[in-house]
This record gives sequence, C-alpha cells and structure tokens, in this order.
Amino acid sequence: MARSTRQAVATDRLDDMLTRLKLPGLRDQLDTLLDEATRHDLSMRETLALLCEREIARKDQRRIEMGLKVAHFPYVRELTSFDFAAQPSVDAKQVRDLAAARWVANGENVLLLGPPGVGKTHLAIALGRAAITAGHSVLFVTAIALVASLAKGHAQGHLEERLITYIKPKLLIIDELGYLPLEPDAAHLFFQLVSRRYERGAILITSNRSVGEWGTVFGDAVVATAILDRLLHHSHAVTIRGDSYRLKEKRRSGLLQNTAAVEAKLIEAAKRGVPT
Ligand code: ADP
Ligand code: MG
Repeated sequence: MARSTRQAVATDRLDDMLTRLKLPGLRDQLDTLLDEATRHDLSMRETLALLCEREIARKDQRRIEMGLKVAHFPYVRELTSFDFAAQPSVDAKQVRDLAAARWVANGENVLLLGPPGVGKTHLAIALGRAAITAGHSVLFVTAIALVASLAKGHAQGHLEERLITYIKPKLLIIDELGYLPLEPDAAHLFFQLVSRRYERGAILITSNRSVGEWGTVFGDAVVATAILDRLLHHSHAVTIRGDSYRLKEKRRSGLLQNTAAVEAKLIEAAKRGVPT
C-alpha cells in the first residue's frame, strides 16, 4: 500500500476511534493540535497532555453552555459588572466567597434581601452562573411562577412530578419572594419543596421583605416559621440597603436632578402640543 493511502486509512480509523471514545474535540482538531505539538517540539507525553487538555476544555465549555441554557436565567448578569462601590452595604468578600459555590456543593442556602432595584436579581444570576461554572446544575424561577406551577400540579394530580422538577437542580434560585401576594396554597406547597430540598439541594431566595415579614408573605405564620426554620439552618444572608441602582444612575446622569424643572418643561411642552 502506498504511504499516502496508508495515512488516509489511518486517519479514517483514528476518526472512527475518537468518535467511539466520545472525543469529538480531538477528532475535529487533531491536525491542528498535532501541528502545534510538532511546532513546539513536544514529547509524546506532552502531546498527549495537550490533547487531553483541549478535550477537557471543550467538554467544560459544552457543559457550561448547556447548564446556562437549562437554568432559564431571564438575562445575563455577571459579578464582574456588579459595582460594589455603589453598594457599600454589600460585603464584596462575602459575595466573592459565595461565587466559589462551596455553599452549593454543601446544600446550603442564600438569602438576598433588600428593597427593589438594589441588585438582588443581578447577584442571584451572577451567583447562579458561577455555580454552573463550578459544575452544578441550576434552575432560576420567580416565586410567583414556582407557586403557580406547584399549585397547577397539585390541582391536576401530578404534584410529585412538579416537585421533582424543582428538587433536581443542585441550586434552585427563587426570585422576588414577597413582591406579589401568593396563592392560598402557597405556604404548604413551598414548605413541601423546602423540606424535600433540605440539606440536599441549595436554595437562593431574593426578597424585598425581611424574614420577619414572611408570615404575611405566605399568609400563614406557622408554616412560614417551619419554612424559615429549614431555610435558615444552613444559610448565608446578604442584606442590601440603600437606594435603587437604576434611580441612582438616572440621578447621576441628571435625569432626576431637578424634578420640578423637568415637570414644568413637560407641562409647557404638553400645552404646545409637543409629544413628550
Ligand atoms: P433587584 O432585583 O434588587 O430589584 P436588580 O438586580 O434587578 O435589582 O437591579 C436593577 C438593575 O440595576 C439591573 O439592571 C442591575 O444589573 C443593575 N444594578 C443594580 N445594582 C447594581 C450594582 N451595584 N452594580 C451594577 N449594576 C447594578
Ligand atoms: Mg429583582
């Protein structure tokens, strides 16, 4: 057999074997990687290490992309874009520690508490993304959607399946607890979820209400206490104070600086029939 034919056969066999071994990254980049190894005069062992490194990097990338897709984050927010200087009530070190996701591995909980607009959802998404990078599965849901989904499952006789959906991810992020009143069954459904996840899966909750107000949020002080008992047992609380970041930004850019003057201008424009 001619040398070029032998080489083509070997390439085909290698392609097949790398496919069977589920190493598509190596298969698709083999020529480039081997060229790279030759260029850098790598030993066999170093070449093998390079190949493994690239395949692992590709698998990690895939896993992260898939994890982000199934997490259902409403939008992208990263810790790097969080302005800690603008929010002095947030302990930057604590948040950065949380981004290492050990609490997720340990099945602990995080509460992000504070008024609207202070960055709770921003931090929740950023910590969720960090947990995915660290290798955990994450699901993001609003409190309203979660309770509605559980209530629907309950009414239709398949609560167990619904519960499993929210128990399975290693980290469940529940956003905006307390913004809107919950359904009458909410407390019991929520309790079932929290006790099933207890010490197994991590939960991150954002709320504009202090935990003392959760009795009102759930409309049932006794069940709320039982929920809090489990949530707070292994938990980290981040309480954010201060003004809404959005309003602060607007004020800084001058939009809200002189409300009276702006209003006067708007009234004047309206009188002249200018659309505002
Ligand atoms: P909350 O969930 O507490 O109501 P959000 O996280 O939705 O607040 O924040 C409102 C907006 O302001 C978002 O676009 C968010 O990214 C931004 N934001 C809030 N705080 C900060 C901050 N400290 N640095 C950068 N962006 C921030
Ligand atoms: Mg929010």
